Amino acid sequence: MALIVQKYGGTSVGSTERILAIAERIVRCRNEGNQVIVVVSAMGGETNRLAGLGNEISANPAAREMDVLLASGEQVSVALLSMALADLGCPGRSFLANQIRIFTDGNHQRARIQNIETEALDAAVAEGVVPVIAGFQGTDSTGSLTTLGRGGSDTTAVAIAVAMKADECQICTDVDGVYSADPRIVEDAKRLSSVTFEEMLELASLGSKILHPRSVEFAGKYNVALRVLSSFEDGPGTLITTETPTMEQPIVSGIAYARDEAKITMSGVPDIPGVASKILGPVGRTATEVDMIVQNTGADGLTDFTFTVKRQDFESTLKLLEPVRQSLGARELSGDNKIAKVSVVGVGMRSHAGVATRLFDALADENINIQMISTSEIRISVVVAERYLELAVRAIHDEFDLASSGTQPDT
Ligand code: ASP
Ligand code: MG
Repeated sequence: MALIVQKYGGTSVGSTERILAIAERIVRCRNEGNQVIVVVSAMGGETNRLAGLGNEISANPAAREMDVLLASGEQVSVALLSMALADLGCPGRSFLANQIRIFTDGNHQRARIQNIETEALDAAVAEGVVPVIAGFQGTDSTGSLTTLGRGGSDTTAVAIAVAMKADECQICTDVDGVYSADPRIVEDAKRLSSVTFEEMLELASLGSKILHPRSVEFAGKYNVALRVLSSFEDGPGTLITTETPTMEQPIVSGIAYARDEAKITMSGVPDIPGVASKILGPVGRTATEVDMIVQNTGADGLTDFTFTVKRQDFESTLKLLEPVRQSLGARELSGDNKIAKVSVVGVGMRSHAGVATRLFDALADENINIQMISTSEIRISVVVAERYLELAVRAIHDEFDLASSGTQPDT
């Protein structure tokens, strides 16, 4: 008998009809001889609605109270799903985080799981009950409710799978797997039968919203078999797994993009020690995330310094840096908030030279100017003007022939 953790996201439990359909799917999995533990999100849109209420009431709501508010969404869906299971003759039982004791640190709204007690779940599973667990929430050492950050119920599911030593953690969602590129942009994008944790982590943090990056990190660390599959159709989905030496890897597995980027350049900066820290220090002390950073070779004692931030942080970062520009005596502070980042990811890149050249050629053939480049061992990212984003993704998909290489045999 396999123990399977199934996580259903907001769309999958978005209406009472869908909850009834999900209940049937859970019963089917159980009838196939599996033990099932379920983790659910709030009904789609509900967490946003609750956050909106909090922000209407107060310009500066306390993080602790926001957690109590936001976590209520998951309480609704575990209750409804457990009722639906009972009507199908399947003993489902709802569990909130404090009933299981999913312990986190005390960082409200971005808490990290520290420990999960398994007694209550072990007992339920032994009784033949299907535990239906509220995702996204935890409890700190003082008993206060915490939440794991938006999208955090994926992480709950993986953590439960680790704690319960489950055979597989299935993330059931509204897409039927991870694709070689966004199918809304590339018509012949292919579902990948498998990707490695490393690749998925890059894809997830690069803006493919399928999985919460922390859940992938967690699953990789504990080597949990993680699968992304459709809540609504049957199919094998995409298995996220460790790389094995025998695996025949395509050079590029997938393409990710992020549209909401902006770049900021300080030019004519004195090329002396400490400049990077004077520019990025103040930015880092705000919650602003800095991604790509480029500093040019100096000429005549001056250099240019460019970096990217999320578009929402563009104006505030420019404002923050104007006094820094003045104190450094730098010539100009400029920026562009109509840029996008396109990245190719693949563990196969490690053993293949010339991937970057092919990527640059593909973009050159389409007359797309590359504004910035950054690389890691398994990723190359380029910044292009936002209006060329879709063209760039299609050109790269063609160049690496991903429409055919995505189809590996299903495992
Ligand atoms: N309900 C939470 C959110 O919308 C958690 C989740 O869906 O994973 O962010
Ligand atoms: Mg999600």
